[in-house]
Order: sequence, then C-alpha cells, then structure tokens
Amino acid sequence: MAISLAIASLNATPQTREASLTTAWCAERLAGVYEAASPTLAIAIVASRHAEVVEAHVRVQGKFRCACSRCAEPVELTVDTEFDHHFVGPGQLDASGELDVDGMALDADPDVSEHDGARIELEELCIEHAILALPDVPLCDEDCKGLCPRCGINRNQETCSCDLSEERSSPWAKLAQLRVVKD
Ligand SMILES: [Zn+2]
Ligand SMILES: [Zn+2]
Repeated sequence: MAISLAIASLNATPQTREASLTTAWCAERLAGVYEAASPTLAIAIVASRHAEVVEAHVRVQGKFRCACSRCAEPVELTVDTEFDHHFVGPGQLDASGELDVDGMALDADPDVSEHDGARIELEELCIEHAILALPDVPLCDEDCKGLCPRCGINRNQETCSCDLSEERSSPWAKLAQLRVVKD
C-alpha cells in the first residue's frame, strides 16, 4: 500500500493520518542483515499545507530482527523514529540551493522535495528513515562479550580458559608463528 496524501485534502490546520507500510521491501533493502519482525510498520503523519507547500511530520514504528554482531544470538530491535519533510510544488526546487516559496525560505536539502501537484508520496521516505534508524552494528547488549575467537563459545553464557593474550597483543602473532613452523 502506497503511503500518500492528496494535496487537495490538506490545509493550514495540521491533520493526523495513520497508515501501515508493508515490510516486503526489507528482504531486498536490508540485505539479509535485518528482517522485519512484523508484517507492517505503523506510520503516523501530521501534515499541513500553505499554498503549494506541504509540511509533513512523520513517525515510523516497527520491529526488526537480526543477529548480534558479536555473539550471533537473535536480537529484536524496536524502531521508533520521526522526521520532518517539506514538499514544494512541481518545478519550485532547483539545484541552486535556496529557494523562496511564498515567503517561506527553505534550503534545498534532502528534507525538501517536489510533489507532483496531486499527492505527496511518503513511502520511500518512510523506508529510508526506518533503515537510517537501524544501528550499523546491532548488539544484543551494549556489554555483549561476544564469541571466544579461539574456541567459539558464547562468552555471555560460558567461560573458557583460552589464553587470548596473543590475539590481543597483535593481529599478526599467528602469522609470525606460522612462519616459524615453516622454517
Ligand atoms: Zn551479543
Ligand atoms: Zn575460548
């Protein structure tokens, strides 16, 4: 279901609309790192219009699953993010930087785009902001101890007696050892 609002239905009084965004895009856009933990994301939009300029404040909420970057245990993450976006009329945005629409000075930044004169489209923006809200390095816990690089146990659950001083001192320690053995 496309997330879009008819411009003619908007006026100077902010109106709230709710919608749901299917998470079918996750498989492709999240490259297997994250998957959606619910079939839809909840979208809440507060939008108002002054002449051709539409101001939208959007909240995106949903749940995602992934594997912890350190210990590979499953993690469920809640995304709850908000963004503002301005839409200007067709042809009002140029590459020069600033533009002035009906006395409202707007910077030509990523938070401003043109609408087609009929509707504002929010689906792609919601997807982009949901992706931005996901951490680059997902962790089950800030203090996750990860897997032992030597024996592979989950160090959050068990303790091993591996001597990791070599791994800590130099990433080349093992390589140096191999050379000695070869000689
Ligand atoms: Zn972990
Ligand atoms: Zn170990």
